[in-house]
Amino acid sequence: MDDLFDIELVDWKQNRTGYHVVLFKLKFAPGAAQRTDALPGFSKRLLSSLPQLRIHACHNGAHKSFAMELENTEIAHAFEHVAVELAAQLAKHPRAEMIGKTAWNFSIDGQGVYRVEIQGFDSCEEAREIACRARGLLQEAMC
Ligand SMILES: [Zn+2]
Repeated sequence: MDDLFDIELVDWKQNRTGYHVVLFKLKFAPGAAQRTDALPGFSKRLLSSLPQLRIHACHNGAHKSFAMELENTEIAHAFEHVAVELAAQLAKHPRAEMIGKTAWNFSIDGQGVYRVEIQGFDSCEEAREIACRARGLLQEAMC
């Protein structure tokens, strides 16, 4: 199966509070699903493989829990939360110190390109490895 999307690590910097912030660009192929509601059963399967996503804080503007938000959101947003969760589980980063943000501007970055910024990784290598694993988990939840 082809990758769900391409991941590029485009920026890495230290913010004023001393945390490292990594910026990924996720690029979806033309015609590929970009939202979770286009994939029947996706949110259920993802929550059963990573139940800790249910405790994630999510600022989605509608005061929905992340589990509710996951039913109809950008796949890039799901990637953000999965990457944070894997960083907590695999690299033992405290969840509360990791902050993610998903944004897009298709007229600047191109169609199907999302920017996912995550604070709290220790190194670029770690961020890249976790991003690949996060994509793998999302891909598994598709079928
Ligand atoms: Zn969120």
